[in-house]
Amino acid sequence: MPEEADFIIVGGGTAGCVMAAVLSGKASNRVVLVEAGGAPRSPFVAIPAGFSKLFGSKCDWAFSTTPQTPLGRAVFTPRGRMLGGSSALNAQIHQWGHPVDFDGWRNAGADGWGWNEVAPVFRRLERSASAAANRGSTGALPSERLATPQPQSLAFVEAVHSLTGAQPEDYNGSAYEGAWISEVNHSRGKRISAYDAWLKPVLSRPNLRVATNTVVLSILFEGKVARGVRVANASGHQTLIAKAGVILCGGAFGSPQLLMCSGIGPASHLSGHGIEIVHDAPGVGENLHDHPMACPTFESRSGRSLKSAESPANLIHYLTQRKGMLASNVAEAVAFLRTPRAEDAPDLELLFAPVEWREEGLQPPLVHGFTIAVIALAPRSRGCVRLASADILTPPRIDPALLSDEADADRSVMGYGIDLARRIARTAPLSADAGREISPGADCVSVEAKQGWLNRTVQTVYHPAGTCRMGRDAASVVTPRLAVRGVDRLWVADASVMPTLTRGHPNVAVAMVADRGAGFIAAG
Ligand SMILES: Cc1cc2nc3c(=O)[nH]c(=O)nc-3n(C[C@H](O)[C@H](O)[C@H](O)COP(=O)(O)OP(=O)(O)OC[C@H]3O[C@@H](n4cnc5c(N)ncnc54)[C@H](O)[C@@H]3O)c2cc1C
Repeated sequence: MPEEADFIIVGGGTAGCVMAAVLSGKASNRVVLVEAGGAPRSPFVAIPAGFSKLFGSKCDWAFSTTPQTPLGRAVFTPRGRMLGGSSALNAQIHQWGHPVDFDGWRNAGADGWGWNEVAPVFRRLERSASAAANRGSTGALPSERLATPQPQSLAFVEAVHSLTGAQPEDYNGSAYEGAWISEVNHSRGKRISAYDAWLKPVLSRPNLRVATNTVVLSILFEGKVARGVRVANASGHQTLIAKAGVILCGGAFGSPQLLMCSGIGPASHLSGHGIEIVHDAPGVGENLHDHPMACPTFESRSGRSLKSAESPANLIHYLTQRKGMLASNVAEAVAFLRTPRAEDAPDLELLFAPVEWREEGLQPPLVHGFTIAVIALAPRSRGCVRLASADILTPPRIDPALLSDEADADRSVMGYGIDLARRIARTAPLSADAGREISPGADCVSVEAKQGWLNRTVQTVYHPAGTCRMGRDAASVVTPRLAVRGVDRLWVADASVMPTLTRGHPNVAVAMVADRGAGFIAAG
């Protein structure tokens, strides 16, 4: 007999861990969480500075984009494949997002998702060490300022302050503009992923089963009603029946891919792959966007940087006290700023790392240095996720169409950011440490040269979103209550439903989406 549950959750990442914890909180709900990866056992998950060591490992889907037309190359795209998902290999920055992000969602048709509705949820989810009155202190997810930032990171924050005005105490809980040491999801020098915060504490619930190393191959429909899923693992193929429904938390690539493999997506695309149409939904996989990031790097005169993080002394320091360079989240400081194009909120982030970030993080640093990464916070470029095959085990075609918007707005923000990063590197007190500019290099001066450098080096900040957009309009994939349009008993609740990315780092915003989604689903 196939196994039966009330709810089947696909994907045990940020959203899936929250969803499973909330839905299984009611003892009468039988919940099965299905995750393609395993438990997060690698030491590089817990050690904050270790995340890039996970790139390309078995904990990473290690996707690649399609060759990006304006760039002439593909871009590496890591995604967590383990319990905790991408929250178990991310840079741990904790950021709610800007009020205009959520008001923008609401204004675009995501009824009920404005700042006033979401802010109390962020507050409830976090256990912040901040003393600010508008922060939460009792939630599951710890957040604190990075405990021991490197001197260069403090100098970066001061250098930005010397160019900007007054700023709020935190970049969370209200509108923000300025520079701060990053708030991170750490507890005593260790990463706290969504798995640690939400799922691990409830694993002993008798009404919750977590199936790891198990891939969901397709959603099973009876007419237009989702009845369960087909899965594959080392024991073979099985059917799981969902009496109340199926919830997709597979992330911005996994959820649209599973919908399309199961017959929900653009009809002509699905037919081209021989997939039987359950519902023609042209919006599935559209609206893919991510934050583009380019990384100006500078030599460090002090001869100090995270290049030494793995030295025996640092290893002992970390193992004995959970402090020092290995306790760094690498992206130690953030600045949210406006370019002349900005309208109602910052449109540029400078992300500071006291290390030379090379080749999309895939190569170790060559010299002691620092990076002032430039990020377009409100990207206009839009791409899509499409199937490469009807078989879900074949990676999808991921095309974020980086820096492709017709008005060149993203390029313009990035170009402005490169100049500002250079200026901040030459501003006291950071200037005392700033030696030779490694990349783009002193001879990269003209607009054409800077755009050429962007083409050669731009990557993403690994924040894909938007591919199952929620909205009120018929073209949206899910309703504002996260139900998939055109079918019954099927929901999506992860980064894919965001109509637009938040201005910064979206992990806790994804947790917020899942928490609210669980509330809607539980309420029927
Ligand atoms: C390297 C990196 C650094 C980042 N840094 C930050 C940061 O500092 N701060 C921040 O806020 N955000 C950061 N992010 C982004 C943030 O982590 C993500 O936005 C967030 O984790 C997305 O959550 P999700 O639940 O949508 O997807 P994920 O967490 O990716 O979860 C999806 C899960 O579904 C599983 N899955 C997919 N398809 C299937 C299937 N068919 N069957 C079974 N399982 C399936 C996957 O294995 C995965 O575990 C970073 C991301 C990366 C990759």
